[in-house]
Formats: sequence, C-alpha cells, structure tokens
Amino acid sequence: MGLYKLRLSKSRYIIFLGAPGAGKGTQAAIVALELKLAHIAPGDLFRQAQEQGTDLAMKAKSYMEQGMLVPDEITIQMVLERISAPDCEGGAIFDGFPRNLKQAEALDEALTGQGKTVDKVVYIKVSEEELLKRLSGRWICRKCQTPYHAETSPPKVWGKCDKCGGELYQRPDDTVETVKKRLEVYFSETASLIDYYTQAGKLVEVDGEGSVDDVGRRVLESLGREFVRSMEK
Ligand SMILES: [Zn+2]
Repeated sequence: MGLYKLRLSKSRYIIFLGAPGAGKGTQAAIVALELKLAHIAPGDLFRQAQEQGTDLAMKAKSYMEQGMLVPDEITIQMVLERISAPDCEGGAIFDGFPRNLKQAEALDEALTGQGKTVDKVVYIKVSEEELLKRLSGRWICRKCQTPYHAETSPPKVWGKCDKCGGELYQRPDDTVETVKKRLEVYFSETASLIDYYTQAGKLVEVDGEGSVDDVGRRVLESLGREFVRSMEK
C-alpha cells in the first residue's frame, strides 16, 4: 500500500461508516496508520477515560453498566476533548462516531468553530446477506470456549469441538434473528447519516466484500484520488 503515501497539508478528518461485520474498525486502523492520523473509536475512548477516572467517564460508565447507550452529549464532549490532544494535530479517523445526525451536526459545528471540516466519509458497503453470514456464523465450544465460524473456520465434525469434542453452541447475540435485528437498527440509524454526508458531497462508497487487503486498497485508492483532487484545487 506504499503507493498512496500522501502528504497532508492540513488537518484531515475522515469518518468511517459501516454496519457491524463490515470490517469498518479494521479498515479505519489501516488507514490511520497509513495516513498517520489518530484513530478515534468511542468504545476505546470510554475505556481510556475510565482508567483516568474523569467526570465524563464516570457518567458514561454508569450508562454502560446499565446496558444503556451513552447519551449523545457525553459522547460528543468526549470526542471533542480527544481531538484537541496533541496527537490529533494532523487530524483523525473516526470509527463508530458519529452514530446519528445529532452527533454529526455537533461534530460539524465544533470543527467549523476551529476553521476545520470533515474531509471525507468512507462508507464500507457490504450486502445484508454477507453481513448475516459473517455475524451469525459464530459457534463456541461449551467446554473449552474455542470459537468456530460456520463459513471461515468450521469444526471438522459439525457441532463438535476439534480440541475437546465438546458441544458447540451459539450465543444469543450471534443467532440469525438477533443479528437481523441489530442490522435493522444500524441501517435505520445510518440512512440519515448517509444522506447528510452525500448532500455535503463528502461520502465515498467502497465495496467491503473480499479480503481485508483488497478492501484496504480500495479505501486508500478512493481517499487518495479524492485528496489529490482536493489538494490541486
Ligand atoms: Zn472444546
């Protein structure tokens, strides 16, 4: 991927969108490394902040402990604090943020206030059929907890653990019904984000099927072209 060594003249902010199972986090990490940008994922932020014990983190924690989503105001504040850190001077990749229109508008407002802007939004597109296959294929051994995947790493004998002969089972989160519901929620939340960034002329759609390397190449190519073009203007 060395072909796409880009010299970025100012802070760059790139958002990654993609359904659960689309490989968004993996690709965000690859691109962050390649473009030398900070990689910001709210889940990681919450964990780090909890270790530091900030007020904001304690608030977030109380919601998470109850199995509730952290309210937008808290998430937004944490992300804004994070991007003012020295390692974000060159910009950042957002992975899992914004989740909804309200967060997107808050981010735009905050960046605009600093004379900055979201440069690109990469939408990693994977068909619902493929997502279902990836997400609902997980099976675990009851005895030794070894994970299997129906498609990518099946056991030698269906239903039995290769290591200990234990019975394989699916966690409730990994069943087709639960996965379908999760995807429905995701797509209904994300549709408005996709519209928002399409209208702003920032959305780049990338085919997320195929190997991690292939998808990574596609992402960097699309960003590369776009950035080079925007820098020539
Ligand atoms: Zn086992």
